[in-house]
Amino acid sequence: MNGKIEKAIARVVEHGQFILGPEVGSLEEQLAQFSGCRYAVMCANGTDALLLVLMAWGVGPGDAVFVPSYTFAATAEVVALAGATPVFVDIDPSDYTMDRASLAKAVPYAVELGLRPAVVVPVDLFGHPANYPLLEEVSRRHGLRIVADGAQSFGASADGRRVGSLTEATTTSFFPSKPLGCYGDGGAIFTNDARLASTLKSLRMHGNELGRYVRIGMNSRLDTLQAAVLLEKLGILSEEIRSRQRIADFYANTLADVAVVPAVRAGVESAWGQYTIQVEERDAVRDHLQRRAISSAVYYPEPLHVQPAYALFPFSPDGLSNTSQLSAQALSLPIHPYLSEPDQQRVVREVRQAITTGAKL
Ligand SMILES: *Cc1c(COP(=O)(O)O)cnc(C)c1O
Repeated sequence: MNGKIEKAIARVVEHGQFILGPEVGSLEEQLAQFSGCRYAVMCANGTDALLLVLMAWGVGPGDAVFVPSYTFAATAEVVALAGATPVFVDIDPSDYTMDRASLAKAVPYAVELGLRPAVVVPVDLFGHPANYPLLEEVSRRHGLRIVADGAQSFGASADGRRVGSLTEATTTSFFPSKPLGCYGDGGAIFTNDARLASTLKSLRMHGNELGRYVRIGMNSRLDTLQAAVLLEKLGILSEEIRSRQRIADFYANTLADVAVVPAVRAGVESAWGQYTIQVEERDAVRDHLQRRAISSAVYYPEPLHVQPAYALFPFSPDGLSNTSQLSAQALSLPIHPYLSEPDQQRVVREVRQAITTGAKL
């Protein structure tokens, strides 16, 4: 184990304030500063972070919440848990984040269905911030709120502003495989809105405010031990993202002629939570890599709108064709910050071989 993290853990064991200890407050300050927003509120995980925001905004039955179908289940799950209706929206095929035109059509469609359009939850898929200025044009026109699901993008930026300060509220996850991962579960919410921040702090502690229960909340605190780990890891996050960027550049330069490689918008620095290419014969390429002990992953083999628990919820009236295509062709390659150059070269060699031989061997 990294010596600094070990010492930070030992300090927590020594002072014994395992819940909401001093490290949690320090981390909230440092994360807010890092992301360029006024408030960071720590909570137990990235799923709760989203749910807490919906609860704070009073989202419930009759409300439509617009979410991509091409995302991790938690993005839509929290909407249903809040009693509202997830309405699925397509993604832009270039960077896999929410498509503005699909959202613009989904909003009046939700009204036709008798729902009240309430919130949009764009997802910074694979580490690329969604196009908030563009999505805000739609949300402003219809009076919708936006909460960004930044579970995969903490540390990324757009036009010089970091995730956490790109829209009115942002959530993230510190699950170990995310760009900033702790040694268990963790999450946070970022906002400039003082009232939202204080409601969230109450909601994460059973609705308590100054010793009284003023609202129905939940138990969603971050363990002090995780805060201690995150304080240490935050210090090296920028360096780790630079190294992911170098790997992404290498993959783009060596794979663009045989596969569709991810494109980020001008002004965006992705956190590269995943490096996801599109290939026909995806499953065969994946088998080829697996036989050579190269780990790859498919995010997401089945989009949410066809999963049993979500199949009855509405989706944007023009359909979700980009989502379906991505589900069939997306393949995520290894991109952790400590992947050696020889390992990167081996990944490229095998991917190229799998594709150029038709991967039918
Ligand atoms: C990981 C993830 C979440 C949930 O975070 P947890 O900390 O695992 O609860 C939510 N949304 C997206 C897009 C994710 O990738």
